[in-house]
Amino acid sequence: MDRETIMRAFASEADSNTRMSIYAEKAREEGFNAIGDTFEEISGNDERIAGVWLERAGEIGSIEENLQKGIDSNKQQLEFYQGIQDEENEAVITAITQVKENQIDMLQEALDGLDTETWYTPGTSSHWLCSRCGFVAGGNRCPLSCPLCRCHQGFFRPHRPGRRPTPPPPPPPHPGQRPRYGGRR
Ligand SMILES: [Zn+2]
Repeated sequence: MDRETIMRAFASEADSNTRMSIYAEKAREEGFNAIGDTFEEISGNDERIAGVWLERAGEIGSIEENLQKGIDSNKQQLEFYQGIQDEENEAVITAITQVKENQIDMLQEALDGLDTETWYTPGTSSHWLCSRCGFVAGGNRCPLSCPLCRCHQGFFRPHRPGRRPTPPPPPPPHPGQRPRYGGRR
């Protein structure tokens, strides 16, 4: 298989992974919990298959390389959204653009502070965020485990409380109908 075919297989599995996960949530909303489980299981299978292709494409690197790839791909998405002229979806695109900017900041912050020698060193931050459950611990020393979900210190990252909050979602385009997921209707 050439690289292009491998990346096409990856894109197809990644698409299906997201789609199945969204369909699972929709099925559960409609009361079909067992069907939700089926969608969720297939979504998980597809995520792992996507991972097989991503690895074969040589796209899974060191933590530094992966952070840089994350920054690059989010920058590409940001440019894509910024280039769209679409009045109907303008509010959604503006909100997503801000999310993308936040994501780039988060990844850049992680890359800049990656030195594992200092990552958990007392005094390097006044707050620590558990990426598993969202708990924020105060103090200049990172907790050894999460007081809320009990996970290991490795799930924590230095947290800057002043980070720009995610913008509120725009109002639904058509009164009376509430799309759960953005995009064109
Ligand atoms: Zn936690």
